[in-house]
Parts: sequence; structure tokens; C-alpha cells
Amino acid sequence: MIFRQLFDSESSTYTYLIGDEATRQAVLIDPVLEQADRDLKLAAELNLTLTHVFDTHVHADHITASGVLRERTRATVVAGVGGARCANVQMRHGDEVRVGQLVFQVLATPGHTDDSISYLLDDRVFTGDALLVRGNGRTDFQNGNASQLYDSLTRVLFGLPDETLVYPGHDYQGRTVTSIAEEKQHNPRVAGRSREEFIHIMENLNLPKPRKLDFAVPANRACGHTTPLPQGA
Ligand code: FE
Repeated sequence: MIFRQLFDSESSTYTYLIGDEATRQAVLIDPVLEQADRDLKLAAELNLTLTHVFDTHVHADHITASGVLRERTRATVVAGVGGARCANVQMRHGDEVRVGQLVFQVLATPGHTDDSISYLLDDRVFTGDALLVRGNGRTDFQNGNASQLYDSLTRVLFGLPDETLVYPGHDYQGRTVTSIAEEKQHNPRVAGRSREEFIHIMENLNLPKPRKLDFAVPANRACGHTTPLPQGA
């Protein structure tokens, strides 16, 4: 497997480039619009062909590059059910998506948003904003639901093997990766917390509204196109 973790400093977003050595097919997970050139250049330098773009959810803090990348490479855009309507494929829990010989398993991990999914690939899982390093995504917009996120964290993700590496959608403190065991033990919002305690924490974060919320969400439902697609497109 070819694996690269990329970072967008404006939104603190991680993008992952994962390639299959045998077929040279590759996927970008959660690419950021402003970094599309960087990401395509890296794929070309590594002799990879971008065949897929995965979004973990409709983002509120940056605009996805999925639409631009699809236009430039003919890649298949994959999202969760109920997420971006522009996606070529909308995945449900238990679905698989193949990139060359790599097999990703889709886990429904709603709660940050109602369309949030995680992608499991062998020893690692890409959790978007469901599970972050020592944290988790907020639940106060986009049909977020703290009780649902508690289940996604404690039943779905914490049900994975302890050694599973967790690659998050963001980090704001320079951390790049964690593991299921680490988060079970040290995640301050979830470790040893009841559902009620978790919900109480999530309801009292008092976070400011994301600066890009009002235009990023509609744009991302259209794969990053800032002018809405015609009805039915
Ligand atoms: Fe998010």
C-alpha cells in the first residue's frame, strides 16, 4: 500500500492519498478544493491514477475537491447515504468499495452529521470528524446528534481491534494519528463516560459557528461546486 497523509493548514484538514501498488489505482479521502493541484501532482509523481474520491461527510469548514478532481480525472466520487447528492455512489454500513486490490469497508458513524461514514482498510480506519485524536466532531448542526455519535464511537469504532490506527479528518494541535486502544483509554469525552455525560459535554461546548458553514454545506452537497446544480442533476 502507498499511503500519504496531507494537511491543509487553513482548515486543519487531513487528506489521505492511498494507492494500490499492484494496479497503481488510488483514492483521495477528504480532499480540499484549494489543494487539488498539490494532491494531483503528488499522485502523478507516485505514478498513481486517481480512480476514487471518498468524502467522509458533507463538510462545513472547507470545500471538497471531489467535483474538480472528478472532472480532471474521471474518478468516482463516493459518499455516505444522505450526503452529497452529486456523488456517483452513496454507501451504507457494511458496503465495500474496491480501489485496485484494496478493499475499504464502510462503517456508518453518524452523529457529527447524519451522513458521516468511516472507511476501514485493514489495520487503519479513516474516521472523518466522528472520532478525532482525543476528541470528536461537534454535533450542533447538520442534523448532528450527540446520542447517535456516542453509539458510533462506543459501539462501532470502539468495536474495532484495539491496535487499529485511527486517521482523523482534522487535528488542531499537530497530532496525526491515534489508535482505538488509545481513544478508548484517553479520549476525554468518551473514555469512562456514560451516554448522559457525553451528551452533557456536547451540549455545553459553546463553539462559534464555522465561518464557512453557510456556503460550504450547499457547495459540498454539489461536490464543491459553488453554484448550485440544476434540479435533478
Ligand atoms: Fe465536519
